[in-house]
Amino acid sequence: MAYDPDNIFAKILRGEIPNRTVFEDQHVLAFQDINPQAPVHVLVIPKGPYENMTVFSNEASTEEQVAFMRAIGEVLRITEVAEAGYRIISNNGQDGVQEVPHLHIHVLGGRRLGRMLDRPAA
Ligand code: AMP
Repeated sequence: MAYDPDNIFAKILRGEIPNRTVFEDQHVLAFQDINPQAPVHVLVIPKGPYENMTVFSNEASTEEQVAFMRAIGEVLRITEVAEAGYRIISNNGQDGVQEVPHLHIHVLGGRRLGRMLDRPAA
C-alpha cells in the first residue's frame, strides 16, 4: 500500500497541525499523544514517509534507523520513566489495530501498566 501523505502525522510533520514536541532532530519527532493512556504517553515517529515498521525496517537508511532508536532513548531520558519502568508499543496493520498509517512508537509510563494484552490468545 502506498504511503498516504494526508495522514495526521504527515500533517504534524509539515506543521499543518500543532503538536506538543518532546524531542526532535533531523530524522525523528517525538510528541505528546493527544489522548494519553498513562501519565507519560509520547509518540516517536520518523520524519520519512514510512507507513509501518515493515517498511521502515526494510527501506529506511541505517542513519534513520539509528536516529529512531536513539530518539526513543532520548524520550526515556526526558520523561524519566526508565527507573520505574515503561512500555514501548507499535501497532502495525489491521491485526495490530494501527489507526494512523505513519510508523509510530508509543512510549508509556508513569503508572503500573497492567498486562500487555487484555485477553489471552484466541
Ligand atoms: P495507533 O492506534 O497506534 O495508530 O495510535 C495512534 C495514536 O495517535 C493514538 O494514541 C492517538 O491518540 C494519537 N493521535 C491521533 N491524533 C493525534 C494528534 N493530532 N496529536 C497527537 N496524537 C494523536
